[in-house]
Amino acid sequence: MSPKDASEDEARREKKREHNAKYYAANREKLREKKREKKRERHAANREKLRERAAKYRATNYEKVRESQARYCAANREKARLRAARWRAANGEKIREYLAANREKKREWRAANPEKVRERAAKYRATNYEKVRESQARYCAANREKARKRAAHYHAANRDKKLAAKHRRRARFAALTTVHKKGATAYYRIVRGVLDGQCWRCGKRPTRGVEIDHHHSIARGGRDGIVDACNLAALCRGCNSSKNDRRPSEFYGKAELPRIEALVAFAYRCFLAKIRQPLPEMARAA
Ligand SMILES: [Zn+2]
Repeated sequence: MSPKDASEDEARREKKREHNAKYYAANREKLREKKREKKRERHAANREKLRERAAKYRATNYEKVRESQARYCAANREKARLRAARWRAANGEKIREYLAANREKKREWRAANPEKVRERAAKYRATNYEKVRESQARYCAANREKARKRAAHYHAANRDKKLAAKHRRRARFAALTTVHKKGATAYYRIVRGVLDGQCWRCGKRPTRGVEIDHHHSIARGGRDGIVDACNLAALCRGCNSSKNDRRPSEFYGKAELPRIEALVAFAYRCFLAKIRQPLPEMARAA
């Protein structure tokens, strides 16, 4: 080939490359879709093979697969939840069979991992508070005598625990009332007075006066003491006792909650304004 031919050849090739690049750029989506379509066809034709391959991969890379699943679930919580629910709904029979076949295994696992079992149960109770309460109530109603006996037995066996809890409560209260007595009283008065003695929830004005409620209950991790700063509400006895130790979001309606929380914050601001110099704990808690 003469040098001239060679350069012509090179120029042709260059032109073709350019043409191809332009074509790809203009038809990117179309070409991609074509590729995807081909891939789908290939998959369909080799379904069994691919399934086998995937199973093998999962079996040999167990940890890796678990990690990647966990990452996916964390990033796509709602999607993963829906998918799992769909699967469960469609495979009830399978699940029942599996459980029946592995009952013994499950028992063994539970016996070998009491710590994990406890943790899981605690987590379940924490996230399904209402459900657990309802189921307990149902059980107690259906097994009144048994429940009574069990409670009596528990109290007898845990007398020390109960006493210790009582002492802790007393000590906490004593510390609170001696160190912050004036502050606490002032704060309570403000909380009660925000709606002029009305229950923040139902609007009743009890003759005995409204009660002070820990908006986030202490039992469920709410702040305590006068450090309850920004955690107090005023409720009538009825509302307070039906709220019990429920979380605010579990007790109040969706429309109701923002109003109550605004009142909680407002009462606290009033209190801060009154004492002007917040106690260090309050500053921290605010
Ligand atoms: Zn009320």
